[in-house]
Amino acid sequence: MRLRGLVIAPLFVLGPVAHAADSPLLVEHFSGLTITVDTSQARPGGLLVVKLRAARPLGAVAATLDGWRAPFFATSEGPRALLGIPVTIPAGPAQLGVELRGRRGRRRIAVGVVVAAQRFASRATSLPADRSALLRASGAVRDSRRLLAALRSFSETAYWNGPLRPPVEANARATFGVTERSETGLPVNQLLDGLYGEYHRGLDYDVPIGTVVQAPAAGVVVLATALTVAGQTVVIDHGHGLVSVLCHLSRIEVTEGQRIEGRTPIGLSGDTGAVAAPQVHWGTYLSGIAVDPGAIMATAF
Ligand SMILES: [Zn+2]
Repeated sequence: MRLRGLVIAPLFVLGPVAHAADSPLLVEHFSGLTITVDTSQARPGGLLVVKLRAARPLGAVAATLDGWRAPFFATSEGPRALLGIPVTIPAGPAQLGVELRGRRGRRRIAVGVVVAAQRFASRATSLPADRSALLRASGAVRDSRRLLAALRSFSETAYWNGPLRPPVEANARATFGVTERSETGLPVNQLLDGLYGEYHRGLDYDVPIGTVVQAPAAGVVVLATALTVAGQTVVIDHGHGLVSVLCHLSRIEVTEGQRIEGRTPIGLSGDTGAVAAPQVHWGTYLSGIAVDPGAIMATAF
């Protein structure tokens, strides 16, 4: 989802630097336009919620950060963009861009934000021989690309309402963003979802095989299939660029194209794919950027 070839029109406007110290909610007024940014999860692996309000109709295009972008979608309160912050973005001051399309072409308004520091642990991982063999299987790369295509789903409709909930009633291991070194030397995480980087993309729940797995929120099932590394997998498009993936299931009970509500049982937990023990892996993505499900759950959209 890197920004490529985007032409920014000559009119470039630098907005005032926002003061983030007091409140996680930045509010900037700019020639008839109000930009509100929820920065409460402004950290690597977190997100920015960008809302626009204006007296006249806005040609809101996208919000950008360090070359990454998320489109604006219409809501009853005005255009909103959910901008994931990749784990690779350095902590410190950063420039949030708001791209608008007007009669005189595109313009970009810059808002100063601060990305909080976040340290991610590092760990060595090992898999049983029959599971690490999956990393060398002929279909592994093809399957990772298939999963990535589903993770980059966009719907104009926001299907979910209210906070996302964990897929199982269990405590997650705090594994998001952890750098993993596989003893095989093969990139387990890259082979899972086709995205670059050997950091863990979600939360893991250690539950017995056969535990009911529920949808974290409403959406449309865009993938429900067995994949080489991710195992039996369900991808849910919640809308507005927000997507959940649930991996390593033993059984899938939804079908592609099915519209589901939050808490709908989608299958049973298992240990399929490249895992060492039974677990549910829940990953969340915004416009194809892996973000911490903990940050998504903590956000009031
Ligand atoms: Zn996992």
